[in-house]
Amino acid sequence: MIGLLLIAALTAGSASAIEIVAGEGVEPAFARQAEAGAKAWQRIAQGLPALPDAPPIRIYLFATGEKKLEAAQRMFGLTREEVDRSWGVKMGGKLPLANADPIHQAILIRLDHPGYQTPAPGFSLGKIAAHELTHLWQSRLKREEPGSGDPAWLVEGAAEFLGVRSAIAAGLFDRAQYDAYCAASMRHNAVAALSLDDMTTEPALGDAGAKTSGAVWCVLTRYFEALGRRKPNGLSAYYRSRRNGTPWPEAFEKAFGVRPNLKSTAPPSRSR
Ligand SMILES: [Zn+2]
Repeated sequence: MIGLLLIAALTAGSASAIEIVAGEGVEPAFARQAEAGAKAWQRIAQGLPALPDAPPIRIYLFATGEKKLEAAQRMFGLTREEVDRSWGVKMGGKLPLANADPIHQAILIRLDHPGYQTPAPGFSLGKIAAHELTHLWQSRLKREEPGSGDPAWLVEGAAEFLGVRSAIAAGLFDRAQYDAYCAASMRHNAVAALSLDDMTTEPALGDAGAKTSGAVWCVLTRYFEALGRRKPNGLSAYYRSRRNGTPWPEAFEKAFGVRPNLKSTAPPSRSR
């Protein structure tokens, strides 16, 4: 039996309630950072279409990867392979940093992952909580949305964009820090050669990440920021179309006024 402690229950408008649950040995500072990121995400996600089937979401924090695995096996009946494979940040190490689980109700985050060292613990945790919340929301949407799924760059780009936005809104890091972090990681030459067509599947996106030392996250975030400057409500318009059954390329073009292409939004066009 592992001790789990409910730290915070967040409710806001029509969005799902979010509960932060900390396992044994989790420092209160980590729980506060996850809470801040989740709260900011909840405000930002108000723009996304509300999903009718919305049971409370629990964000579980575990001190170690092993405790996370043990809980995933005990509470959700997942195997190690399923925990390794399911959505989450894979930055090396045995288990991914975080998972949004297959039953669309829980996010499991480990706190002993090397991924937290870059660029700062608060940056990572608040951002990751919001990133995984986006995945959970996406997976709930996917149940309603007929047809095939979105390409990996779109799933991850939207999640990372909302993650970064939430972490900035929560005051966990500021814009200048984020820009400095991206400038440092984007020095890699391979970044310039990236195209969205190279990142349509999870493994291909993983390859792009490996080639660019992870700078692909900054590239995708900036791409979605540029799209947002074109069409401030583009992301919610996109997901609204998807929910109504519009295929993703058509929904994308309708929502943002451009075809998906990393270079198509630069320089930022004025929005109508
Ligand atoms: Zn992700």
